[in-house]
Amino acid sequence: MAIADITVMGAGVFGLSVAYTCAQRGAKVQVIDPAGVAAGASGGLVGALAPHVPEHWNDKKAFQFDSLIMAEHFWADVAALTGTDTGYARTGRLQPLADAQAVDLARARALSAADLWQGLATWQVEPATDAPWMPPSPSRYVVRDTLSALVHPRRATHALAVAVEALGGRVLRNGAPEGKVVWATGWAGMTEIGGNGVKGQAALLRYDAAGSPQLFADALHIIPHLDGTVAIGSTSERDFTDPASTDAALDDVIARAIAAFPVLHGAEIIARWAGVRPRAPSRAPVLGHHPTRAGAYIANGGFKIGFGMAPKVGQVMADLILENHDAIPDGFRASSPIFRA
Ligand SMILES: Cc1cc2nc3c(=O)[nH]c(=O)nc-3n(C[C@H](O)[C@H](O)[C@H](O)COP(=O)(O)OP(=O)(O)OC[C@H]3O[C@@H](n4cnc5c(N)ncnc54)[C@H](O)[C@@H]3O)c2cc1C
Repeated sequence: MAIADITVMGAGVFGLSVAYTCAQRGAKVQVIDPAGVAAGASGGLVGALAPHVPEHWNDKKAFQFDSLIMAEHFWADVAALTGTDTGYARTGRLQPLADAQAVDLARARALSAADLWQGLATWQVEPATDAPWMPPSPSRYVVRDTLSALVHPRRATHALAVAVEALGGRVLRNGAPEGKVVWATGWAGMTEIGGNGVKGQAALLRYDAAGSPQLFADALHIIPHLDGTVAIGSTSERDFTDPASTDAALDDVIARAIAAFPVLHGAEIIARWAGVRPRAPSRAPVLGHHPTRAGAYIANGGFKIGFGMAPKVGQVMADLILENHDAIPDGFRASSPIFRA
């Protein structure tokens, strides 16, 4: 008798989300990863579940929006099933605004968010206050959105693995693929099909701002996790020799984060981490039928927002694999002309 209807290669957030959603729908799943759970990009520290700006709407922004809305139930269900904390909280985000022009643009985006976000979340310009957890803002205004959430990436990925097992699935380091095979092998798999990996470095500081909104300032994410730590990320490096090392580029990120938000000055740095994001030439996810492995599927290309996309990636891949229902946006297929854009 077959052990698995579905084998997922790769125990990162994409592979495990696909396995978990398929198992929820009654499939027998196994996940195989020789390096173990969260050994790749999903083993990180940052975990911003933050939306694209609400304008120039397209398939990718709509997909991500749906996924961010799904995330609340998705991560709550994983936590309830496993008794494991995923670090998820929808605590919103603050962004300082540089000048009057930025304030005008942000106000225009508030109007488009009211339309595009369907009343499920807001994007508003409001005066900066002198509250301790408020980024200095040259214009004295900030954007506050209520869509952004956060998750603890490493813990959430491990929780997903426990959830797969709780639903009767297996998470293994070695084994033979059985049934339908899904390749979710991160940047290794992306380089096989013409994409690449973009290294990122991040840091974790001891600073308790649990429950506060995340900040996005000077193009950096400042993420107040629920466990009394604050993550800061990230660098973006297309050329690298050691995927796992941290260096002066991370020191620079930490210095910029403290300059943007001096409250963090003096906070102890308790972890430094690096990983490699899987990036398609289109910068979009790559989902559906595998372009080079006959009969197999692919779930890859999370790039900088893999955690934000994961709940909906699980849904559309389960739809396709189990029900032959294809709800994948055209631009997310490896066969799409924009894959090579
Ligand atoms: C510094 C940094 C900060 C980030 N910040 C955020 C953020 O704030 N918000 C967000 O949403 N995203 C963020 N990301 C992106 C996110 O981490 C990735 O998009 C996501 O983790 C990709 O998940 P994945 O499952 O596709 O890949 P991975 O997590 O890399 O998993 C792929 C797995 O495949 C395994 N594998 C490789 N080859 C094989 C094989 N032949 N057989 C079986 N298994 C194999 C690997 O061991 C690995 O475990 C960040 C990434 C980095 C590096």
